Amino acid sequence: MNKATQLLVLLEENGDEIVAIESVVDTRDYEEGPDDKWVPIPGSGDKRCCDRCGRNHEIHWQVTVKDSGGKKESRVMGGGCAQQMYAVIDTKEVKSLASASISIKKMETQLAAYKALLDDYKKIKNTVERQSVPDIEEHPPEFSNLIKTLKIKVGQDKYIQDGVSKSQKESDVRRDLVSRYHDSKVLDVIKQKYSGSIRIGRFKKPQLLGLLFNSSLENRLVSNIKPLERSLDKQRTKLDKLQKSAVKG
Ligand SMILES: [Zn+2]
Repeated sequence: MNKATQLLVLLEENGDEIVAIESVVDTRDYEEGPDDKWVPIPGSGDKRCCDRCGRNHEIHWQVTVKDSGGKKESRVMGGGCAQQMYAVIDTKEVKSLASASISIKKMETQLAAYKALLDDYKKIKNTVERQSVPDIEEHPPEFSNLIKTLKIKVGQDKYIQDGVSKSQKESDVRRDLVSRYHDSKVLDVIKQKYSGSIRIGRFKKPQLLGLLFNSSLENRLVSNIKPLERSLDKQRTKLDKLQKSAVKG
């Protein structure tokens, strides 16, 4: 038993005592706010009556309560009641347990949104890549160090172009042009589908679409997903530890 746990001493008047915090479940939905921070949607959670005070709460603390006769039972409370009843002199650990649970919920929602967008991107890319590609046109070199200039039409009078120099393989330049052609077609579909901006939750995310012009959405999303998955793992490990240490006796 650790020090913080030993400090958990106060009993309810009727002798009931919380001996374990089984879980803290944040039932609210999250969305990306205008400032890029992920925030809970007010009222989106599952409102449940606290077993102790009867007030509604959306973050459910599932606790094990032991009565004066030693009988244990599971109850669900709001955070305020659970913390009061847990009778913690040093509430730090219990607070971190709750905040770890809440961050996990938030990160899971965030991760799911990025993954859904990534999936959608991949689907669109697959469809685009199955369509036929216009012929690559060959033009006289535009600079003296080029052998020729290659152009591929992406829209009305719009071309993607590149020159082949003596040091380059023409097949590499052609492959690169086709891949840039696909990127531009994918971008067209996404722009149309998301009507000018990518929307996650209630908020439009024009900045996400803006990123498409600089780097591929796929890379951008993957680079958001990787660190998020790592922090999520860390939080889960932390929560696991906290939950173990929040068991008394
Ligand atoms: Zn309560």
